[in-house]
Amino acid sequence: MTTTLITGANKGLGFETARQLVTAGHTVHIGARNPERGRDAAARLGTRFVQLDVTDDASVTAAAKAIEADGGLDVLVNNAGIEPRTASGGFIPAAEVTADLARSVFETNVFGQIRMLHAFLPLLQRSSAPVVVNLSSGASLMRDLGNPDSPAYFYADIAYPSSKAAVNMVTVQYAKAFPNVRINCVDPGFTATDLNHHAGTQTIEEGAEIIVRMAQIGPDGPTGVFFDAKGPISW
Ligand code: NAP
Repeated sequence: MTTTLITGANKGLGFETARQLVTAGHTVHIGARNPERGRDAAARLGTRFVQLDVTDDASVTAAAKAIEADGGLDVLVNNAGIEPRTASGGFIPAAEVTADLARSVFETNVFGQIRMLHAFLPLLQRSSAPVVVNLSSGASLMRDLGNPDSPAYFYADIAYPSSKAAVNMVTVQYAKAFPNVRINCVDPGFTATDLNHHAGTQTIEEGAEIIVRMAQIGPDGPTGVFFDAKGPISW
């Protein structure tokens, strides 16, 4: 039996990943910062809930203790993420991006993943087939955002793509440091969720597919690699 924890799983891609992994036979812990939303999501899937705010050391430490007491962990999906947007769903203009705004984005998207890895790697290393999936984004790719011929060139935000570029490096470095753990990152593609005010062009089922696939790789699978739905992609 594979036990999987997904952060930010009360809605969006995290919830859909949980739904598909429950169907695949995983025991899934729904991580959610809001207990009401988390319990509701877990009840809808008939699975477990753990309170988990990835920006909060005490919350992450308590979640690791609870999951250890519950039998341990094989798969961690670092899914929780935020993208700053204006009230009408537009990008925050570059001139209005403050250090505090960028810090709050990094606190969730980057330091949140590091906080989770620090707390859960000891548990994961006791698994016979430990796996980590970090949520990155196609918006992390400098070769596209800096290329006027790329469709991604229009993407104007400052903090979000910078944070996802950091996720890529975090993934590579952890993968080297923990060769017995399969640690990869994924781009789910532009998916209609609350994150982008439902502007995404893919369904949530389509977006979750690569997350679910990478959560199920075996001990001989790749590590330190960036995947989208079509397979490995270059940084
Ligand atoms: P979403 O629907 O907005 O869901 C984000 C989830 O993260 C929510 O459950 C949210 O909880 C949770 N979250 C935010 N801050 C948190 C924190 N401090 N602690 C714990 N949970 C927290 O967004 P999504 O589109 O499913 O995004 C999921 C991941 O995919 C993100 O990492 C995102 O960057 C990545 N991604 C998405 C797309 C896309 O097109 N949608 C593309 C590339 C990458 P609350 O409900 O409490 O806010």
